[in-house]
Amino acid sequence: MPKAPRRPCPHPGCKVLIERKQRACRKHSRVLEARKPERIRGWRLQQRRAAYFAEHPLCRLCERAGVVRLATELDHVIPLEQGGADDWSNLQGLCHDCHAAKTAGERRDRQAVGMGGVDATLHGRTV
Ligand SMILES: [Zn+2]
Ligand SMILES: [Zn+2]
Repeated sequence: MPKAPRRPCPHPGCKVLIERKQRACRKHSRVLEARKPERIRGWRLQQRRAAYFAEHPLCRLCERAGVVRLATELDHVIPLEQGGADDWSNLQGLCHDCHAAKTAGERRDRQAVGMGGVDATLHGRTV
């Protein structure tokens, strides 16, 4: 039986060959895991949502504004893409409206660099 083909470790600059089923060489798999927390999905996610909402049933942003509203969405305070941890300390329950507003705000932040043209138009002087 032929041996399964090996591939190089995905860590930049590392040339160690690893087995297909490995994510990185022994030295770098730990680094990879620390940097990229795997997003949990499926029933584990459902279970965590349920557990979280059981303890924190209200929308955190509405609560801050003095409004009592049930949270329906589980949100990462710091998005995973920006290095946020995938654990309870980085979670908050939000109602649909607050979650939509927060997501829109994050998108705006990300695009802010390319907004110069729009701003110029808004101020009446197209560049
Ligand atoms: Zn490596
Ligand atoms: Zn809310």
